Amino acid sequence: MERADLVALDKQYVWHPYTAMDEYIANTDPLVVVRAEGPYLHDADGTRYLDANGSWWVSTLGHRHPRLVRALTEQAGTFPHTSLAGVTHEPAARLAQELIALAPGAGREDVPAGERLSRVFYSDNGSTAVEVAIKMAAQYWAQNGRPRRTRFITLSGAFHGETIGSTSVGGVQLFRDIFGPLLFDVVHVPSPAEPEGWERAFARVEAALREHPDEIAAVILEPVIQGAAGMQVYAPGFVRAVREATRAVDTFLIADEVFTGLGRTGARFACDLAGVVPDLLCLAKALSGGLMPFAATLATERVFAGFGGGRERALYYGHSYCGNPLGAAVAREVLAVYRDEDVLGQVVRKAPKVKAAFERMAATIPGVKQPRAIGMVGAVDLGGGGYLARGGWRVYEAARRRGLYLRPLGDTVYVAPALNIPDAALDELLAGVEASLREVAAGRA
Ligand SMILES: *Cc1c(COP(=O)(O)O)cnc(C)c1O
Repeated sequence: MERADLVALDKQYVWHPYTAMDEYIANTDPLVVVRAEGPYLHDADGTRYLDANGSWWVSTLGHRHPRLVRALTEQAGTFPHTSLAGVTHEPAARLAQELIALAPGAGREDVPAGERLSRVFYSDNGSTAVEVAIKMAAQYWAQNGRPRRTRFITLSGAFHGETIGSTSVGGVQLFRDIFGPLLFDVVHVPSPAEPEGWERAFARVEAALREHPDEIAAVILEPVIQGAAGMQVYAPGFVRAVREATRAVDTFLIADEVFTGLGRTGARFACDLAGVVPDLLCLAKALSGGLMPFAATLATERVFAGFGGGRERALYYGHSYCGNPLGAAVAREVLAVYRDEDVLGQVVRKAPKVKAAFERMAATIPGVKQPRAIGMVGAVDLGGGGYLARGGWRVYEAARRRGLYLRPLGDTVYVAPALNIPDAALDELLAGVEASLREVAAGRA
């Protein structure tokens, strides 16, 4: 089919995510991907694009990694799907073992047995990984002597996904407001990434825990970097302080590592940067390397034990594709590739380059502010316009003319490429971002 015909078909039938469709249909010439490999996407018109955001943060090992493709096709040729209801299989069982062996706190003698992450619950995507954690926390307290613990403390700017539950614990007003009446009540505290420092946010967390110790089921946070808020980086000390404060009143900490998990920050988990073991840990995105929708929620032995006893105490939750063999087989291979290709070491080595590039952009391009970087993420802001601002989209257009796919978050321009992006491609990517920002800044001047 011709490219133009495909675009016409798309515009007639497809409703795109996070897209103002009138504007899209009238003005957008979408990328029409026909092939992808490593950090590159190929358009039907012959253009090759560097994928600056790893296809919405999932493609951490690049596109079409041969080992992942092989794991997927081998599993598909054996048995592509079974339920996990009274059934198990090697990919699900061994992946669980492997995740537990890598989880924050694994092997640490100072972590009491009940506080170790020891159980894996599978689902399909980041939103459901969070939904599972929310339900586990709420049900745990409901049937273990603290039935009034039904509220969650959440951070301003937080993003935890798309379901009503994960939207309820979100803190991006634009995504929440319209559903206001449908969302459950949470305690909002300021973001630890605000310029005043994390201490003010922490004081509010502590105060909320002190004021409502009988009501708080958990604090939920994206450790060390709030992704969708615009790549807002904050100090690991905040995560540590929240962990201590939740312990002091004996309530839970949920770490949403859907974005940060598996190396994005340079550590295996962002919780490791803080030396923190959460009660519940949510993983998706990188877990299946951009091949399959797949997610896991890790729970401590204490949380798990809270569901033992009578049948009425079980977690009545499960998706059709829970622990699906294709996703689990790919995830096992993802972990093997991380080990064999020293992916974390690669991130640590390349991260200073990302940081230096974004600092240089902010220092030398008029109107470019707030450089921040951690691991394989770098970002700057153009204005203070938030998610609906258009500044980032002008940079998107300029980048696209340079063969760079650079999806902004409003006025925030960021990169979150494959963690194993080759050095030459990373240089090209950073130079392309800089040139695009300069072009837009010159146009504005
Ligand atoms: C992307 C994201 C989610 C939602 O994951 P989906 O797979 O898109 O449902 C949840 N939490 C964080 C921190 C994320 O970045």
